[in-house]
Amino acid sequence: MLTITEPERQLPVVAEVDVVVCGGGPGGFGAAIAAARRGARTLLIERYGFLGGLATAGLVSPILAHTAHESDTPIVEGLLREITERMHAIGGAPTWEESLAQWGIRFDAEALKIVLDEMVQEAGVQVMLHTSISDVVRGNDHIEAVIVENKSGRQAVVGKVFIDATGDADVAYRAGAPITHGRDFDGRGEAMGSFFHLAGFEPLDEERARELRQQIEHEMEDGRFRFYHAGFLSTNSHHTDHTAANMTRFGGDADLDTVLTQAEFSVRRDVWDLVRYLRANVPGFEDCYVQQTSPQVGPRETRQIVGPYALTGDDVHLGAKHEDAIARGSWWIDIHCPMGHTYPVHLCTVECPKGADCDYWISQHESMRTRDELYPPSGDWYDIPYRSLLSVSVVNLLSAGRCISATHEGMAGARVMGTCIAIGQAAGTAAALAVQQDCNPGQIDVQALRQMLREDGQLV
Ligand SMILES: Cc1cc2nc3c(=O)[nH]c(=O)nc-3n(C[C@H](O)[C@H](O)[C@H](O)COP(=O)(O)OP(=O)(O)OC[C@H]3O[C@@H](n4cnc5c(N)ncnc54)[C@H](O)[C@@H]3O)c2cc1C
Repeated sequence: MLTITEPERQLPVVAEVDVVVCGGGPGGFGAAIAAARRGARTLLIERYGFLGGLATAGLVSPILAHTAHESDTPIVEGLLREITERMHAIGGAPTWEESLAQWGIRFDAEALKIVLDEMVQEAGVQVMLHTSISDVVRGNDHIEAVIVENKSGRQAVVGKVFIDATGDADVAYRAGAPITHGRDFDGRGEAMGSFFHLAGFEPLDEERARELRQQIEHEMEDGRFRFYHAGFLSTNSHHTDHTAANMTRFGGDADLDTVLTQAEFSVRRDVWDLVRYLRANVPGFEDCYVQQTSPQVGPRETRQIVGPYALTGDDVHLGAKHEDAIARGSWWIDIHCPMGHTYPVHLCTVECPKGADCDYWISQHESMRTRDELYPPSGDWYDIPYRSLLSVSVVNLLSAGRCISATHEGMAGARVMGTCIAIGQAAGTAAALAVQQDCNPGQIDVQALRQMLREDGQLV
C-alpha cells in the first residue's frame, strides 16, 4: 500500500478534565450525565451535531429491555426513566407506567435530542459536538489524551478517566488495547440495518395490513426484496402518522469505511425499491413517500473491548447474576445473520434456508442452539458485571454501550438501548468514583458503586 508520512506537530490541549466520554449515544450520554452529576469535570465528544447515537442518528426505536423478560416488572430505571418522563412531558414518549406494559419504549427521536441537550447542560457536562476522535496518545498502561478533529483543526483532550462509548471501540482500538471482533470462528459481526419513515398513504384496517404484509413476504420469497422481514408498516416510534420500519439488511464489517459506504447505498436503494413497488402496485400508496431515512446505517456489532470478564450467551439465557452487577439486561440472543442473509429468518438456526451452505451452520452445527436457549428465563434478567466495562490493558479506560467486553452471543443480548443506557450510567458513576478516590476504575469499591447507582434510582 502506498503510504505518506504525517509530519510531527504540536497540538493545542483544548480541555483538561476528570472524565472524557467518547461518543454521545445511549452508552455515552448516560455516562456523561452520571459522571457530571457525581461531581466529575466531564467532557463529552460526539461526531454529529446532536446526541443520541443510533437512537437519533439511526432512528432506532423502541428502547428495549426496560422490563424483565416477558414481564412488566422494570429492570432499568435511573436515567432511562428520567429521560422517558422528560420526553413524555413534551409529547415524545408514553408515561413510564404506560411503557412498562409495552415491549419497548416508543419515542420521538427529535424529543430525545432536545431532552439530552437539556440534561447534559443542566448537569454541567462540557460538550464538543461536530468533533471526531481520530487518535489516542497512550502512556505505558494508560491513555494520556485523545486527539480530536473538528472545524477548528486537530486538538488534544487530556483526562484522568476515558470512557469509550463510540460503539465501535474506536478509543480502545487506537490505544492498541486488546479487542475482539464478531463471532469466534470468522470474526464476522451481526448485519447492519437502517430505519426509515414512510408517510403519505391511506390508513389501513387490520385485515388489509395483514394482506399487504403477506404480499411483501411473497415478493421477498421471490427474491424481489432483500429485507429481513416485511414490517414496513411498523410504527416503532411514538407518533403514528408515519411508519418507522426496521427492515433493511447489509452484511459486512461496519468498521470499514468502504463497507459502510456500500451499506449506505444499498439500504437506501432497497427503501426506494419498496417505495416504487408500493406506488405502482398497492392502491392507497400511489403518493407514499420517504419522510426520512436515518442519517447513518446502523452497525449492530463491530469491536468489543477485552475486559477481565466477557458477557456470554450463557449469561443471557441462564439469567446469570454477578456480585459486581452494575446493570441489568433482558433482551435475548438476537443474532442478525452476519452474512447478511435475509428471508425468512434473521437468526442463524436450523430453519435457515442456506442450511448446509451457510458458514455458520458448517462451523457451529454441533452446538446450534434451540430457541429455548436463546431467551432469559421468563420474568427474569441477566446482570452486566462491572468487570465487562474494564480493559485488560489500559488502566484508565472504561467502556459503555455496545462495545463492552462480551462474546458475539452475549453482545447480541446486551446491545439494546435500555441496557446500554444503564451501562452508561454505571460507567459514568464509576469514573466519577475513581476520580474521587484518586484511583483507577479497576481499583474502586464496586459495592460502593452499586450503592451509588441505587441512590441514583438504578435497579442493581
Ligand atoms: C438496525 C438496528 C436496529 C436496532 N433495533 C433496536 C431496537 O429496536 N431497540 C433497541 O433498544 N436497540 C436496537 N438496536 C441496538 C441499539 O441501537 C445500539 O446497540 C445502541 O444504540 C448502542 O449504543 P452505543 O451508545 O453503544 O452506540 P451508538 O448508538 O452507536 O452510539 C455511538 C456514538 O458515538 C459516536 N461516535 C462513534 N465514533 C466516534 C468517533 N470516532 N468520534 C466521535 N464520536 C463518535 C456516534 O456518532 C454515536 O453518537 C438496533 C441497532 C440497529 C443497527
